[in-house]
Amino acid sequence: MNKKAWYICCIWVFLSLILISSNLSFAKEMCRVINIRPWTNPKYTRIVIDIDGKARFREHRLINPDRFYIDILNARIDPKLKEHHIPINDGLLKRVRAGQNKKNVVRVVLDIDNFNKFKVFSLDDPYRIVIDVWGEALPATKKTGETGREKALAEKEKYVRNKRKKIVPKIVIDPGHGGKDPGATGRGGLQEKTVVLDIAKRLKRIMEKEGNYKIVLTRETDVFMPLEKRAFIANEKEADIFISIHTNASKQRGVNGIETYYLSNALSERALETAARENMVTRQKVNSDVRFILADMKANSKINESIQLASVIHICLVNKLSKTYSNIKDFGMKGGPFYVLYGADMPSVLIETSFISNSAEERRLRSKNYRERIAHSIYEGIEDYIKKTMMAYKTE
Ligand SMILES: [Zn+2]
Repeated sequence: MNKKAWYICCIWVFLSLILISSNLSFAKEMCRVINIRPWTNPKYTRIVIDIDGKARFREHRLINPDRFYIDILNARIDPKLKEHHIPINDGLLKRVRAGQNKKNVVRVVLDIDNFNKFKVFSLDDPYRIVIDVWGEALPATKKTGETGREKALAEKEKYVRNKRKKIVPKIVIDPGHGGKDPGATGRGGLQEKTVVLDIAKRLKRIMEKEGNYKIVLTRETDVFMPLEKRAFIANEKEADIFISIHTNASKQRGVNGIETYYLSNALSERALETAARENMVTRQKVNSDVRFILADMKANSKINESIQLASVIHICLVNKLSKTYSNIKDFGMKGGPFYVLYGADMPSVLIETSFISNSAEERRLRSKNYRERIAHSIYEGIEDYIKKTMMAYKTE
């Protein structure tokens, strides 16, 4: 072999090696969707997508017909799954189907029957994408699909069944703070934890006396309770409504009024101040948590109901208290990132009944009459909300 041929041979081997290694790295980047496994029970369905390597994915929701899909990027579908339909028919989901959507995108579609919320996350070793779906199954449907009339009849039957059962709404009332956490303290030494426990007990007494309710308090005594446990109690008790009661505070001693919150990632200056205090974290931490709460907001379908509940309670509080007391300031109803409401599975609100940091309102909060009036106004708000939602249910 002469020198020239030797060089050409070297270059050829070198180029071949580059080509092979780039092919290998391409193959490595592309992953394969190898299996889809459904697990179902009447209130909860879990779909697991097995992939042979780490993959990026995007989730989307579509309506008409209701469906939810995940695009797995840089992926190929295993031939055995191609155009594969997995029937679920558990009342939450109809079926799961998968296909190669674009050259490098695998789309997994979940056809929806009825569900309240879902969560998507990934797990490693081996890599898989998990879709959790919660809801209440619709009455069993015929495999051929249910007509509008059949659906309406099923709804009516459900209503009659529930009416026979004589629904007793379950309300979980959460007096904020407690034990080593006194909450806000007024200039005169009055502590938030004491005031809100008294208001909560009064509210319980009024609701049990006036209406047909089942009431549970998250704490009945002066004990410490972590924030995340409070919504957990409401979920565990399968409450219809969750009410967290607080008193407000501001560095500006002159500020007074009533403020009602629902869970949201909104961050007005007021919401930031209040959430930082109630979450017992810094304003910077609240700011960074907003992204986390935003990511999970879509999992909570009770936002609209919570806004409605906050609205009626807020209006009742401002109107009723104004009838007896002067200078009741309407501080408004707002959204804010409150840990205590996070994860609650039902309409839930946080009420800042008055400013304990304001001397005049601290004096009022010391009075049993004022606390009784607050409790009564909250009761009327809840009652109003329940009547409205029951009316909506009847006309469905
Ligand atoms: Zn508080």
